Amino acid sequence: MNILVINAGSSSLKYQLFNMDDETVAAKGLCERIGMEGSQLKHTPTGGESVVYSEPMPDHVAAIKLVFKALTDPVSGVVKSMDEINAVGHRVLHGGDKFSASVLVTAPVKAAIEETIPLGPLHNPANLMGINACEQVMPNTPQVAVFDTAFHQTMPEKAFLYALPYKYYEEYKVRRYGFHGSSHRYISARAIEMLGGKKGLKIITCHLGNGSSLAAIEDGKCVDTSMGLTPLEGLPMGTRSGSIDPAILEFVMAREKVDVTEMTNILNKKSGVLGISGISSDFRDLGKAAAEGNHRAALAIEIFTYNVTKLIGSYAAAMGGADAIVFTAGVGENDPEMRKNIVDKLGFMGAKIDAEKNNIRGKEAIVSTDDSKVKVLVIPTNEELVIARDTQEIVSAL
Ligand code: AMP
Repeated sequence: MNILVINAGSSSLKYQLFNMDDETVAAKGLCERIGMEGSQLKHTPTGGESVVYSEPMPDHVAAIKLVFKALTDPVSGVVKSMDEINAVGHRVLHGGDKFSASVLVTAPVKAAIEETIPLGPLHNPANLMGINACEQVMPNTPQVAVFDTAFHQTMPEKAFLYALPYKYYEEYKVRRYGFHGSSHRYISARAIEMLGGKKGLKIITCHLGNGSSLAAIEDGKCVDTSMGLTPLEGLPMGTRSGSIDPAILEFVMAREKVDVTEMTNILNKKSGVLGISGISSDFRDLGKAAAEGNHRAALAIEIFTYNVTKLIGSYAAAMGGADAIVFTAGVGENDPEMRKNIVDKLGFMGAKIDAEKNNIRGKEAIVSTDDSKVKVLVIPTNEELVIARDTQEIVSAL
């Protein structure tokens, strides 16, 4: 079965075509500047040269048509016709409290995604555009929606409710939803496999990238996570502030003379390690600058590390212990020093990192010492594979 996985943004569209017989990626690509001047598609067949199509893409329908052209190209394509694509899996950011699992796209499902737009105003409309474009271009191919929030729907009320007037929850559904769900789900399931398939494991998953979140997982189910109503809550990130004193908003807005839209933009785009360092949101740039003696770059890394460590401790307390800590995403997979600095502080709960085993990048491994009470794992995430697997499962049952 060939499954096309699509992650549609407002002006971009990423795709991967999976051959599910062996779960390999046949081709992947990215459309950029959809609806703007200078739009282009970069298509890369696995093991082949990338091809760039500089063609106008006024909308997502045009983008999908161009993706199909690339996938069926006689030279750089990987299928003969679109009939060889059996299903499409879409990443959808926000499922609100309506979706606790992936679903086949139907008219009521689309209506529910639409109703959730106020909770994901930037992403859900774009995700819907991707779905609608595929429906238009390949009306007979089943489509599946996979939600970033779904995995976290098992959280208990005590973890997902904010201490606000209750009617905000009742009337507006203001609550913690959590994101990066497919990633936390993939790495926690893989960790359970790597640890021998034991039942009842308490796992803390750390997705540390440009966006970062942690999840507390008991017996495969999420019991808490750090992102909230939106992906702005929790850890300081590349450009996002993470959790701050809410009173800072009014205080700064009055002095900087900015309105709430501008302030929210500052919290999303100009804060985090970029805001602290004033240099970059990219941890590699910060590491380099810190090594050259830049104090604020070093401080940004230190603040990030401190917050991850503190949150791991709080999730261990929430679950009454932890059997494993898992690192993933750009920083979590590729930065041994960051992992060591975090785990070195967790000796009190029985976590010990093995410096030699930890000296890896982008590979699956158990990097704790053999006598470490808490196992520490590095697992490269694969959200696209989660989407492809869910899509296959749903479509196979039709
Ligand atoms: P992601 O959002 O998962 O793609 O992660 C992006 C982040 O991972 C960026 O801040 C990168 O600087 C960081 N990253 C990637 N490779 C490395 C590395 N070798 N060392 C430190 N950070 C890295």
